[in-house]
Amino acid sequence: MSLIRRQFLSRAALATSVLGAPALAQAQSATKFNWKMTSAYGKGSPFYMDGPGSATDLAKRIREMSDGRLNIQVFGAGELIPAFEGFDAVRAGTVEMNHANAYFWTGKTAAAQYFTAVPFGMNFQGMNGWLYDGGGIDLWNEVYAPFGMVALPCGNTGVQMTGWFKKEIKTVADLKGLKMRIPGLAGKVYANLGVDVKVLPGGEIFPALERGVIDAAEFVGPFQDRRLGLQKAAKYYYTTGWHESSTVSELLINKAAWDKLPADLKAIVTNASAACNVISEGWCQKANSEAMEDLIKNQGVIARPLPDDVVKALKVETDKVLADAIKDPLTKKVHDSYFAFKAKYDRWSEISEEAYHLKVRG
Ligand code: CA
Repeated sequence: MSLIRRQFLSRAALATSVLGAPALAQAQSATKFNWKMTSAYGKGSPFYMDGPGSATDLAKRIREMSDGRLNIQVFGAGELIPAFEGFDAVRAGTVEMNHANAYFWTGKTAAAQYFTAVPFGMNFQGMNGWLYDGGGIDLWNEVYAPFGMVALPCGNTGVQMTGWFKKEIKTVADLKGLKMRIPGLAGKVYANLGVDVKVLPGGEIFPALERGVIDAAEFVGPFQDRRLGLQKAAKYYYTTGWHESSTVSELLINKAAWDKLPADLKAIVTNASAACNVISEGWCQKANSEAMEDLIKNQGVIARPLPDDVVKALKVETDKVLADAIKDPLTKKVHDSYFAFKAKYDRWSEISEEAYHLKVRG
């Protein structure tokens, strides 16, 4: 912004005491904001960085709706900061926004897990019910308040896949000693069963799996996984998605920067994020159904759910990990809200969505 423009705006703001609110509104509507948004995912990553409902699409929608008053420059992982430094960068105000998943920040605040995905948790519909109407977003902002940040859901992958394994998993014992890429609470669950857990950014998964640095990896779902080439490094693709029954993308915003936005730009960001939340999930349904068919039919992938006994053991360990997580009072508050909502949603879903899929659709 030029010095002359800055002087005009500060004079316009001062003039409000004389001219009243319309002059202030006029000055505000002329103000342009140039923001930076980083991502935990590399440039060109489908769903996260490219395509309908991605970070790039979100910035475009905001720019169009605001008629260029809020311009957000989007940076993939490694372009401005490393993949997992978005939390610190937004907190420090180095960038105004970061696009990633809250569960990458569990080392900063354990409750963050619940705003991405809880093992054996809710699906896309239930998660949205909790976030938008069940107090989830308010709790998210309560958790981030001490860090001077606010957050919004801005994408969802739907149910993810359990992941890629070089060897077949027949029993719980087959997990022991396995080196696996898996973030979040699910990593702790696997660790309880003897898995050596690794957290790697998306771009490092394929080389690690191919070279045998890891024996197994979860990423997202058929489309994104195929793009990384994971089917060339491991043939067993376990489905189920017990660890991420729907995975929320997070728009993390510096609170001081947010507070400087006029109400209409805040509304534009909020509504563009909600649009991307739905649009990105819709894209996943199309992209994944096509990619899964290709992986099975053309690429020799063996896709199946984990054996029931393994799923049961994972559930037992999940309950232990969650019991441990809620020793922290703030995590307990979020946990109780999430699971109270889930209990109601499960009962309703059983006679609505689930019943449709299992009993009516055929
Ligand atoms: Ca994942």
